[in-house]
Amino acid sequence: MKSIAAALLIWINANSGYEYLGEPPKVVKTDPEALAYLLLGEVWIIPERAKRGLMGLYDVETRTIWLRDNFDPNNYKDRSHLVHELVHFLQYEGQRGDGLVNQSDFESEAYAIQNRFLRAHDLPPIKRTTVPDLTR
Ligand SMILES: [Zn+2]
Repeated sequence: MKSIAAALLIWINANSGYEYLGEPPKVVKTDPEALAYLLLGEVWIIPERAKRGLMGLYDVETRTIWLRDNFDPNNYKDRSHLVHELVHFLQYEGQRGDGLVNQSDFESEAYAIQNRFLRAHDLPPIKRTTVPDLTR
């Protein structure tokens, strides 16, 4: 997983304003229940639909990207979710100083670069999830 993350970081560097040359973050796969727990930090009743939409998240404190256990590294749509989380990693690593400050800006940029990646591989863009609190 680390070599895929490293390759995708090179792609992001070449296709965005980022210039990150350091180590990639840790990337770990886990089940949807654990992802929801990591995201919310407590036990919540989460609608199945929302849980299915939860593809990954970046944990700033441990510098770890968590992905769904069904993540397929050979699938470019799945890879795009890793691109999305890598953008969050770069945002928190402070690799650009152009005034991106709030969570909403972070999400917009992560989706924009994810969709650029999908377009580059002739795949349709993904829509921002309709459950905003579950979209880290
Ligand atoms: Zn996000």
